Amino acid sequence: MKHTKINDLLGGKGLLHEVKAKGWVKTFRNNQFIALNDGSTINNIQCVVDLDKFPAELLKKVHTGAAISVRGTLVESQGAGQNVEIQVEHLKVYGEANPEEYPIQPKKHSLEFLRENAHLRIRTNMFGAIMRVRSVLSYAVHKYFQDNGFFYFNAPIITGSDAEGAGEMFRVTNLDLNNLPRTEEGKIDFKEDFFGKTTNLTVSGQLEAETYAMALGSVYTFGPTFRAENSNTSRHLAEFWMIEPEVAFNNLDDNMDLAEDFIKYVINYVLDKCADDLAFLDKRLQDEEKTKPQAERSEMTLLEKLRFVVDNNFKRVSYTEAVDILRNSKPNKNKKFKYIIDGWGADLQSEHERYLVEKHFKCPVILFDYPAEIKAFYMRMNEDGKTVRAMDILFPGIGEIVGGSQREERYDVLLEKIEKMGIDKEELWWYLDTRKFGTAPHSGFGLGFERLVLFATGMTNIRDVIPFPRTPQNAEF
Ligand code: ATP
Ligand code: MG
Ligand code: MG
Ligand code: MG
Repeated sequence: MKHTKINDLLGGKGLLHEVKAKGWVKTFRNNQFIALNDGSTINNIQCVVDLDKFPAELLKKVHTGAAISVRGTLVESQGAGQNVEIQVEHLKVYGEANPEEYPIQPKKHSLEFLRENAHLRIRTNMFGAIMRVRSVLSYAVHKYFQDNGFFYFNAPIITGSDAEGAGEMFRVTNLDLNNLPRTEEGKIDFKEDFFGKTTNLTVSGQLEAETYAMALGSVYTFGPTFRAENSNTSRHLAEFWMIEPEVAFNNLDDNMDLAEDFIKYVINYVLDKCADDLAFLDKRLQDEEKTKPQAERSEMTLLEKLRFVVDNNFKRVSYTEAVDILRNSKPNKNKKFKYIIDGWGADLQSEHERYLVEKHFKCPVILFDYPAEIKAFYMRMNEDGKTVRAMDILFPGIGEIVGGSQREERYDVLLEKIEKMGIDKEELWWYLDTRKFGTAPHSGFGLGFERLVLFATGMTNIRDVIPFPRTPQNAEF
C-alpha cells in the first residue's frame, strides 16, 4: 500500500482506516510512542507501539534519526498534544542512526555546530521550517511575476561583463593552472582562456535583463549570482540568489511601487501558507528574547513584524533628507557607532541605515536619489546633475534588501558616463545598442533572496537560510 504524507494524516486523511507513513524518528518515548516526521510539516505524528507485538530486537533499532515505515489504523488520540495517532500493526526499519555517532540528537544544538553539519542540519525542526519557508517564498516570487504579466528570463551565469563595476568577480577559466600557456615573453597567454575571452561568474543579471525588457516589456530573472566578498559578515555570501525584475517604460516611482507591492505580496503569501512553520520559528525567537535583558528585547514578535510590513507603507525618503536626519542625530552613547555622517556625498554605512530604519522611522525605508558619484554607471541622471534615480530598500534587522534604479536611457549621456568612469566602452557595445535602437525609459531592481528569507524567518545569519552557504574558506560541500 502507498504511504500518505504526515501532513495529510494530521489533517485527518484516512481516519479510522489503515494507513501507512514513512519518515524519520524524532523520539521514541517509553518504548511506546514514536514521534515520526517525514518533512512534509513541522508537526510529528504519534505512532503508538504495543510492546508485546514486536520483537525487542526490532524495537532496539528505533532511535532518533532512524528511517522507518509504519502501518496501522489512524485513530483519534486520547493524549494531549495531537488530534490523531497511528496504532501501529507493522513496523519496518530502513536505516538505523547509531545514537553514539548520530550528531543530530533531540537537544538544542548551536547554529555554529549545525553549520559544520550542513548536510544533516536540515533534519532539525528549525532547518526544516526555514527551508520550507524558503521554498514557498521562491514559489511566491514566480507567482507574483507570472500573475502580473512578467516573463521569466534566464540570465547567463558565465559572462564577460561586470555589471556593478565593483571588481567582485570570480574568474572563470578553462586554462590548466599547472601548465599555463605562455607567450614568447613568458607571460600567461590568455588567448586560450575561455576560448579566447576573459569571463567571470555573473554578479548580477541586470544588464542582460535590460536587453530583454526592451523587447518583452516586463521580465524578471531569479537565479544564482556570485561575488568574491572577502568579508565575513552575517549579510553576505559568495553565492546567493537574486530576484531582478526589469520593466520598460517604468520610472523610479513605478519601480518603488513595484518593489513595495512585490515584497508585501510574498510576505503575505508565506504568512498564509507557512503558518505552522512561522509559529514554530516565532516561538524559538521569543524563547531567545527571554534570555536577554528587558531593554534589549524586541518589541514585536516575528509574526507581528511580518504583518507590520504587509500592512504599512514603506517610508520614502531622499538621500538628501536622510543625510539631514543623520546630521541632526545624536551619536550613539556607547560610541561604538557614530550616526553622524561625514557630509553630503558620502555613502551610507550600515550603522546609518540601521539608525534610519530601527531608531528614526521604525519601519522599512526606501531611500532614493543618491549622489551619482557613489552609484553604478547605468543609473538615470536627475535634472540637478548631481543625483541619480537610484533607490535602496532598507529593512529593520537586515539593512539593505533591495538596490534598484531607473536606468540611463539616453545614449549620449550614458556614453559620456561610461567614459568618465573609465569603463571600456568596447566591452559594452551590445548594451549601448539598447540605447541606440528604440531606447525607452526603464527601471528595475535586485533583491537578495537570502535577505528576504532572513527577514521572513527571523534568522540573523545569512548562512542559516541557504542550504549550503558559500563564504570565505567554506565550500567543502
Ligand atoms: P551590500 O551593500 O549589502 O553589500 P550591494 O549594494 O553590494 O549590497 P547590490 O549590488 O545592490 O548589493 O545587489 C542587490 C541586492 O543583492 C542587495 O540589495 C542585497 O539584497 C543582495 N546582495 C548583494 N550582495 C550580496 C551578498 N554578497 N550576499 C547576499 N546578498 C547580497
Ligand atoms: Mg556589496
Ligand atoms: Mg549597498
Ligand atoms: Mg546596492
